[in-house]
Amino acid sequence: MTSSSNADWLARSRAAVWHPCTQMQHHARTDQPAHLPLIPIARGQGAWLEDFEGKRYIDGISSWWTNLFGHANPRINAALREQLDTLEHVMLAGFTHQPVVELSERLAALTGGALGHAFYASDGASATEIALKMSFHYWRNVGRPEKSEFLCLAGSYHGETVGALAVTDVAIFKDAYAPLVRAAAHVLPSPDFRQAEPGETPADVARRAAAGLESWLKQHGERTAALIVEPLVQGAAGMAMYDPEYLRLARALCNHYEVHLICDEIAVGCGRTGTFFAHEQADIRPDLMCLSKGISGGYLPLSNVLCSDMIYAAFLDDSVARAFLHSHSYTGNPLACCAALATLDIFESDDVLAANRKKSQKIGATLAPLNGHPQVRHLRQRGMIAAFDVATDDPWFSRKFYRAALDAGALIRPIGNTVYLMPPYIIDDSEITQLGQVIGQALTAACRLA
Ligand SMILES: *Cc1c(COP(=O)(O)O)cnc(C)c1O
Repeated sequence: MTSSSNADWLARSRAAVWHPCTQMQHHARTDQPAHLPLIPIARGQGAWLEDFEGKRYIDGISSWWTNLFGHANPRINAALREQLDTLEHVMLAGFTHQPVVELSERLAALTGGALGHAFYASDGASATEIALKMSFHYWRNVGRPEKSEFLCLAGSYHGETVGALAVTDVAIFKDAYAPLVRAAAHVLPSPDFRQAEPGETPADVARRAAAGLESWLKQHGERTAALIVEPLVQGAAGMAMYDPEYLRLARALCNHYEVHLICDEIAVGCGRTGTFFAHEQADIRPDLMCLSKGISGGYLPLSNVLCSDMIYAAFLDDSVARAFLHSHSYTGNPLACCAALATLDIFESDDVLAANRKKSQKIGATLAPLNGHPQVRHLRQRGMIAAFDVATDDPWFSRKFYRAALDAGALIRPIGNTVYLMPPYIIDDSEITQLGQVIGQALTAACRLA
């Protein structure tokens, strides 16, 4: 049952695997503009993925925003090998272990001690669910059960389980399940700076969006448990970026109206936006924070919710019903925590944030010439995320661009008409240059094919 060619793996995968986020029929119809190629990957090394016939692709989007220090990173691999021979898993209810203790301590320290307790799960969507449940349960425990509603931003994405969909505002993921999704979440205006009116700065857009939050809280603050945001960059909305002023104002409003601020740092945490946590750029701290994706270096499913001591303390009681009884079988898995510790070690020993400042400048300089392209709009960047929109009516633009980029040797998967780069941090200057060339070629091909 071993195969060596791409074609074998494609046929077997199509027959047995139901791939995520995919209309499976689009894999089969190679003659159509909707065609979505399925790429069998044999191995990964650094910024590169390689198929079974030796074709290589630069991973321009960090395998869906997860990978930080490259595929098959020698240091993370070594740490995992050692952990594998020590302890692969033990349940976290009633048991503890070195990796989960150390990781919790180090994450708390990274928040300056503001978020002193870590609760674990495996995926981002579960972290969202945990944060929402924790917020609601906190208010119940302190005698305010009427605080049961949530706020999110237009275009928000916080995961796709039924609970997380309640605070996700992406129609294509949500509409089919609308009858299943709890209605008690209100969508607020996004501070996305692409919405600037003539003469408005990004900070003006942020203040306008915050005014919308304020007027909602004035009327409904009593019933509101929490506001959940993706700090600075709304990923799935198409790398919508906004000014830190929004977070400062939202923090102040949440304090005033006694509403939790949940920062979903699943995509933007771990250095993506230039600081270790994106919310640091607004000089604020959330009450609850979700982490996943990059926290394990892109190696293993791991997520967590960090919370303030005040929230934690409200669950302490003789009564079991006041406890947070949520659990997942693999909560706090030692291998996943070990990968996270190795990831944090690399941040410390290599001064990654400083090195990324140079890399993000290189990315910015590489993409800058696109400003002259007649169809490119809103070229923008925040740290290691760079994006632009393409003015086109072609409904299959993103597919055409994606296929053209793959042909040219890069994984760059646009979101709608937004093309973005979010590479692993080990990417070097020549690889950034190559990504720039691929973008130029794919843009030409996708716009010509329109
Ligand atoms: C990816 C993502 C999630 C969901 O994480 P999963 O691990 O895919 O469930 C939630 N929030 C944000 C901001 C994300 O980017």
